[in-house]
Amino acid sequence: MTASRQSRRSALVLFSGGQDSTTCLAWALARYSHVETIGFNYGQRHRVELDCRATLRNRMAELRLDWKPRLSEDHLLDVDVLRQLGTSAMTDDIAITLQADGLPNTFVPGRNLLFFTLAAALAYRRGLDVMVGGMSQTDYSGYPDCRDNTLKALQVALSLGVDRPLTLETPLMWLDKADTWELAQQLGGATLVELVRVETHTCYLNRRDTLHDWGYGCGECPACKLRARGYQEWTARR
Ligand code: ZN
Repeated sequence: MTASRQSRRSALVLFSGGQDSTTCLAWALARYSHVETIGFNYGQRHRVELDCRATLRNRMAELRLDWKPRLSEDHLLDVDVLRQLGTSAMTDDIAITLQADGLPNTFVPGRNLLFFTLAAALAYRRGLDVMVGGMSQTDYSGYPDCRDNTLKALQVALSLGVDRPLTLETPLMWLDKADTWELAQQLGGATLVELVRVETHTCYLNRRDTLHDWGYGCGECPACKLRARGYQEWTARR
């Protein structure tokens, strides 16, 4: 990214501490002069991902000279209300299966709609222009609130709702997991790939006891399997 292409717009990255949102944070730091992060505690079983956030932010600020002055405040919001709406395998200790409607029971209805709405409120308060999320339509579990059209519609609704032009950027929307590893490589080289591999958390079951070649996790849950397969595909391509 050359200096001339760097945007003067400011960004708020939905940053969970997982592989996708960490890659999105690097993507934003390469583009915007001012970048803040927001995380959500909603009683997720993989609560450990939130513990990864501070380390990742600190290490990414050190990764490139021009990234440090761009990385600004972090915000962590409690959204326990999601659990009051009902159970899911994302928040409760139940087996991960497919529901009758074909969606995995890790689906938390309304989650990303709520997250972006809260992010838009914060962006309004903080004077930020762009919200960045790691949603992907290509290689995901079919969550309808991760789809491109859902988020495009949400961008319009939120911009109208705060009467300010908010942009929702989803740099991973059409990438698969192997592409996401490649994007990390392009943005921050081997150092960023290693940071993503070792310091991000993906496993739904909160396991960080075994370091695989693709990172920590149980190796068996859908999130681990997706991450492992993407890493193997990416290394095979190289
Ligand atoms: Zn797992």
